[in-house]
Amino acid sequence: MTISDDSFLDPDDWDAFRKRAHDMLDHAIDKMASARDGRVWTPVAEALKAQFKAPLPDDGTPAEQVDEAILALLPYGPGNTHPRFFGWVHGSGTPSGILADMAAAAMNVNAGGRDHIALHVERQLADWIRGLFGFPPEASGLTVSGTSMATIIAMKTARDAALDFRSREAGIDGAQLVAYTSSQAHSCVARAFDMLGLGSDALRIIPSDETFHFATAALDDAIEEDRAAGRQPFALIGTAGTVNTGAIDPLNELADIAARHGLWFHVDAAFGASGMLSDALRGKLRGIERAQSVAFDFHKWMHVNYDAGYVLVRDEALQRRAFSNRPDYLQHNEKGLAAGFPWPVDYGPELSRSFRALKVWAHLMEHGPARIGAAVARNCEQVRYLAGRIDDAAELERLAPVETSICCFRYRPHDVVAEEVLDRLNQAIVVDLQESGVAAPSTTRLNGKLAIRVNITNHRTRFEDIDCLVSSILEAGARIRNIAE
Ligand SMILES: *Cc1c(COP(=O)(O)O)cnc(C)c1O
Repeated sequence: MTISDDSFLDPDDWDAFRKRAHDMLDHAIDKMASARDGRVWTPVAEALKAQFKAPLPDDGTPAEQVDEAILALLPYGPGNTHPRFFGWVHGSGTPSGILADMAAAAMNVNAGGRDHIALHVERQLADWIRGLFGFPPEASGLTVSGTSMATIIAMKTARDAALDFRSREAGIDGAQLVAYTSSQAHSCVARAFDMLGLGSDALRIIPSDETFHFATAALDDAIEEDRAAGRQPFALIGTAGTVNTGAIDPLNELADIAARHGLWFHVDAAFGASGMLSDALRGKLRGIERAQSVAFDFHKWMHVNYDAGYVLVRDEALQRRAFSNRPDYLQHNEKGLAAGFPWPVDYGPELSRSFRALKVWAHLMEHGPARIGAAVARNCEQVRYLAGRIDDAAELERLAPVETSICCFRYRPHDVVAEEVLDRLNQAIVVDLQESGVAAPSTTRLNGKLAIRVNITNHRTRFEDIDCLVSSILEAGARIRNIAE
């Protein structure tokens, strides 16, 4: 049997490839350069969806056709590069992120270990992160996909440390580990408990106070009760920037309580961590430097292009003991390509890893913490401005205090009082805004009430975008309630 030359996957004609690559780059730049134009979100047309039903062509497809298919996707993302994307907590990305990803793809490194330059980039990134958070130089860290993964790694380290690392072989073996967080914690915390074999019931949910912060008053008693019942309290999880309202839990107080009871203090700072770059927020995060671990994202309020998050662990040895295991084929050596210890694989579950750290490193290097922090501060100001506009509008009612990037409120004409009617009306307003392409807020529930939830973690947003949002909500509200009547 002869195997034809075209079983090599490189192009025959590099000049043609270069032209093709430059075209794609031009389109990518156009996409970013026009980020403020047009609709925020565009639903995917049925005809386009149908194209994704075809089977895999056995003999491949001409490159121009593949590129055309890729380019056809560009208008149909969630819309978070647009200045009026206000839903959930998404970052808005930067054009430079395209470049770092190109370089990383060209190197095609596996950053799980071995002796090559990617590990040095990641080590420098770790130095910068430790510095930003006031962590000791011995602390360890790992670039991961996002806060969900960072939380799993942090909680696995805490779990194993609590069980003296016997759990790595024996599992939790009947240990009744329990931990505490507030009702405003992100669902990824409970999911981590589920995945780690602790079960989400082991995560005690303490009701938050009326401003949606961790209500610490009941915590001492809850911990004592569990202990008296023979359970083993091991962790306390605070949130810096809750997903519903953006509240920052009283971190110093939580750190005190954790210290008093010998608990691992973990902070979910997915987007709130970006406040460390801004004088406007840094003070509110005081106490984060006392955490045993912090999980946060670069892809949210720091605007690194998806995906990139980080887990920072105070005690390097504990994180390594929770993850390191080197079979024969992964032994490190004093010299050669297998030199250098520890490797990223010693700090997390992934062996093969992309060079995700490069785009983070390049982003921090180019823009610097001061400029990224200024964008964070501007967003905070914009959210306060929005809150002011809401407080001034007779038909709008604010449902939570504003602390960081989030404002929750609802449309409430004075003559509509039934809660179910208000819930339906506000849900309809949000869908109307999303479908009209004008803006994309999302919703949540606060004290049972459906809230329009506006999150501004967007370096492209201008104050006029806030005005446009408010007038669109008032217009949609009046229109939709008239239809309903
Ligand atoms: C977004 C978010 C998470 C989850 O982070 P991912 O990067 O999406 O995995 C966890 N906690 C909070 C507070 C968040 O906002």
